[in-house]
Amino acid sequence: MDRRTFIGSAAAISAASLLGGCNESNRQAIDYSKHPKKREDDAFAENAGRSKKVTLKLATSWPAHFPIMGTGVERFAEKVYKASGGSLEIKLYPKNTLVPALAVFDAASNGQIDAFHSGPYYWKGKNSAFSLFSGVPFGFTAEEINSWMYYGNGLKLWREMYAKYNLYPFPGGNTNIQMGGWFRKPINSLEDMQGLKMRIPGLGGEVYAKLGVNPILLPAGEIYTSLERGMIDATEWVGPALDLKMGFYKVASYYYSGWHEPGSILELTFNKRSWEKLSPQHQAIIEMAASDLNAQMTYEFHAENIKAFETLKSLGVTLSKYPDDVVAAGKEALKAVIAEQSTASRDFATVYADIAAYMEQSKRWSDASLGYFLNIR
Ligand code: CA
Repeated sequence: MDRRTFIGSAAAISAASLLGGCNESNRQAIDYSKHPKKREDDAFAENAGRSKKVTLKLATSWPAHFPIMGTGVERFAEKVYKASGGSLEIKLYPKNTLVPALAVFDAASNGQIDAFHSGPYYWKGKNSAFSLFSGVPFGFTAEEINSWMYYGNGLKLWREMYAKYNLYPFPGGNTNIQMGGWFRKPINSLEDMQGLKMRIPGLGGEVYAKLGVNPILLPAGEIYTSLERGMIDATEWVGPALDLKMGFYKVASYYYSGWHEPGSILELTFNKRSWEKLSPQHQAIIEMAASDLNAQMTYEFHAENIKAFETLKSLGVTLSKYPDDVVAAGKEALKAVIAEQSTASRDFATVYADIAAYMEQSKRWSDASLGYFLNIR
C-alpha cells in the first residue's frame, strides 16, 4: 500500500467511525413512537391539541415595551399563544400595572400572579445564594453560565432553592457581557476609586465596596439626574444598547469595559402550583418558548450592542479599561466577599462551590479556545 492509498483508507475509516459505524440501527430514521419514554408521554400525545384554554398572569420588573428585556417577553407570550393554537394565553403586566417592579417574586410566591420576568440578583435579601444564579464577577460568560444551568447543576440547584418559595424558575434571557460603567473622571489607579460614589448593585457592588467605592442603589429613573448633578460620580447599567438610551454619555464621558457582570441571567419564573396545573402540552410549549427567549435575548443584546457601540464612539465617548491594580484588587476583593457570604449562608456556600468546580474546568477550555481566538482575530 503506497502512502496515498493508506491515507485515503484511514480517512474513510475515521469518517465511518465518526458517523457511528454502519450497523442497522444507524440506518433508521429516529422514530419517537418507539422512544422508551413514549409510554410515559402517551397522556401528552392524547391531549395534544385538546388542552383547555388557560390564561396566566405574568408581571415583569420592566416598564411596558422596555427594549430587549420587555420586548423579549412580549415575543415569548406571542409565541406561546400561537404554538398552543390560542389555548394558552399569557397576559403581561409591566411593572406597577399589577404589582410593583420588585414585588413580583412575592406576588408569584403567594399565588397573586402566575409568573414573573425579572433578575435573580434582586432577591438576595431573601437568600444570598439567589444572586449567584445571575452570575459572579470575573465568572461565567453568557455561554458558560447557560451550559452550567442546563447541563451542569445550575438549574437543578436553582429549582430546589426556589421550591421553598413555591416557585419554578427558567433562565429567561441574558444581558451578555456588561460594561463596567460611566465615570465623570478617569480612573488611573486604585487610589482614584477611593470614596467614589457609584450606583452599582449586587455582588459587583460588594466587590467595589472593598476597593473603597461607596456603592449606592438607585432606581433606574433617578440615575441620570444623580449623575448629572454630581450626587454620584459613576454608574454602571448594562451595555451600549441600553446605556445609550439612558443618555449617560451626556454627563459622564469615560466608559469602562467591565468584569462585574460578564453574562447576567434573567429569569422567567412560575408559581409552582400554576406550573404543575398546566397540561403536559402547555408545559412543553413553555419549555420551548422559554429556551427560545433565553437564547434570543442574548443574541439581541449582542446585535443591539454592536450598533450602539458605534454610535457612542461617534458621540465622542472615551472608551477605557481599568488599570491593572484595580483588576487585581477586584479579584482579591471577590475572594473575600465569597468567603464572607459562604460563611454566612450554607446555600451560598453550596451554590458557589458548584460554580467554582464548573468554572475551573470551563476556564481551562475557554482560555485555550475562545480566549486564544479572540486575542488573535
Ligand atoms: Ca448591571
